[in-house]
Amino acid sequence: MDTKKLFEFIQNEDIGEARPDELLERYTTWRIGGPADIFCEPSDWKKCQRLLQTAQLYDIPVTFLGAGSNVLVADEGIRGLVIHTKGLKNISWKGRIVTAGSGVSLTNLSQAAYRRGLAGMEFASGIPGTLGGAVIMNAGAYGFFLDSIIVNVKTLTKAGESKNYNKEQLDFGYRTSALKSINELVVQASLNLHEGIPEDIRSLMDQYQKERREKQPLQLPNAGSVFRNPPGYSAGRLVEAVGAKGWRIGDAEVSTQHANFIVNQGKAKASDVINLIKEVQKAVGEKFLVQLETEIVILGFNNNGR
Ligand SMILES: Cc1cc2nc3c(=O)[nH]c(=O)nc-3n(C[C@H](O)[C@H](O)[C@H](O)COP(=O)(O)OP(=O)(O)OC[C@H]3O[C@@H](n4cnc5c(N)ncnc54)[C@H](O)[C@@H]3O)c2cc1C
Repeated sequence: MDTKKLFEFIQNEDIGEARPDELLERYTTWRIGGPADIFCEPSDWKKCQRLLQTAQLYDIPVTFLGAGSNVLVADEGIRGLVIHTKGLKNISWKGRIVTAGSGVSLTNLSQAAYRRGLAGMEFASGIPGTLGGAVIMNAGAYGFFLDSIIVNVKTLTKAGESKNYNKEQLDFGYRTSALKSINELVVQASLNLHEGIPEDIRSLMDQYQKERREKQPLQLPNAGSVFRNPPGYSAGRLVEAVGAKGWRIGDAEVSTQHANFIVNQGKAKASDVINLIKEVQKAVGEKFLVQLETEIVILGFNNNGR
């Protein structure tokens, strides 16, 4: 794995902002995560393509990162290249269809839709992720999921080949999509919105934001819901029912406000979070015979990238 050569390529070809040994805690909402061997923010999808092709040439593993709002990055960091999608931020409108780069934040996109009198993204206005991360995770809230508005998605394979998928090909489910396992870089997605009344759009967004502020521990670093809801159950209720609210390992703590959140009280390590997750899973398993699975994506723990 010749990361030095890849770094030289990035600089010589002006692929985008790049740094070696960049601490990933700066890019995750948990404020947790060790260094990436090489961290790069390509400025457009063509540069992503060349970067992927070159990483493959040098046999360097590649990991994708959006807003880092649904990931737990290992304390040892991630070996190889981490592509941060921040630079993929183009937005274009054609009637009710918006096509946006995967690095565009859901909040900005829903605000932009509102300003155009387009409805359909209100549910996403308080989700602190990027469009790319939301496609991978099929993000959703208040009974709405991103797949209900997706038209198509453009990706790059690890070999740099460009692909287009329509919604039916992506096998969306609860917090998942086919893209999660085929592991391609989402570069843009098109969403189908509908005309709405601006005041109604605004008031729904305000209502959702208010609910989030009331229910979620937003003043402390977190990564949203840690566990998926098992069929027929609420993960948060199960965690609460074993008395886990307030359990703490190091600076990682099961939120006293929302049992499905783990908050970073200061200097939590990824290992603290993992150990806390295991304790909660054990307690819930013993009491309810339910195996809680994580909703968050765990990156870097096998130390060979994805
Ligand atoms: C306070 C808070 C509230 C939240 N509320 C919700 C909620 O209501 N509903 C909900 O669904 N989620 C929620 N989340 C979780 C999270 O915001 C969403 O899952 C979001 O869609 C993740 O996007 P991201 O850009 O942060 O992805 P990341 O966390 O950066 O990445 C998530 C996964 O997607 C991959 N990935 C990211 N971008 C790309 C790309 N362009 N191409 C390929 N792979 C990519 C990563 O490798 C990783 O596997 C919440 C999180 C927080 C912190």
